[in-house]
Amino acid sequence: MSANQNIGLLTNRSKVVSVKKMTFMERIYFPAIIKGFGITFSHLFKKKVTIQYPEVKRPIAEIYRGKHVLKRDDEGRERCTACGLCALACPAEAITMVAAERKPDEMHLYREEKYASVYEINNLRCIFCGLCEEACPKEAIFLTNTIVPSNYERSDFIYGKDVLVEPVDHRVDVSKRQTPEVLNFKKDKNQSHNI
Ligand code: SF4
Ligand code: SF4
Repeated sequence: MSANQNIGLLTNRSKVVSVKKMTFMERIYFPAIIKGFGITFSHLFKKKVTIQYPEVKRPIAEIYRGKHVLKRDDEGRERCTACGLCALACPAEAITMVAAERKPDEMHLYREEKYASVYEINNLRCIFCGLCEEACPKEAIFLTNTIVPSNYERSDFIYGKDVLVEPVDHRVDVSKRQTPEVLNFKKDKNQSHNI
């Protein structure tokens, strides 16, 4: 018994290949071409599935996982304490940071004694899984519903603090990404996390 016969017996999906001679019409492909034009023409009257991006953009969910933001607290201080948990949780190894110690005159800039002097996310590596957000104990990093724009240089996809940290006067609303449990936890002043 040949190998092909064995496969046929195993799957029961073998087909007999037709070797009949093509007719004249089949050889000039005329009916097939007409049929193809018919299919193309029929699509003129169907609802379009494509859009004229970037002029037209599809609506995306409020909890879409796009570009990251590094959050500030109510007083405008950076929440990130450079603990490295986000980098550890990241399956794509897209996050790098350098920790630094806060100086006495920097109390208004950084919430914790330790902060990230450098924080970078490589958006070419990132798979936008959101694990960094889940790992963060300081509510410092969130994904937003902003799509990371295309670019020409690979280096332009590496976002540093200048892009990631939210502006003091233009806060990014991430409340849609927080469950009611998380929001209640954040209001609880008995938690050292919220002091
Ligand atoms: S979203 Fe996922 S892949 Fe991207 S930086 Fe966060 S943990 Fe890494
Ligand atoms: S973003 Fe959060 S998890 Fe990542 S280093 Fe800062 S505090 Fe730690």
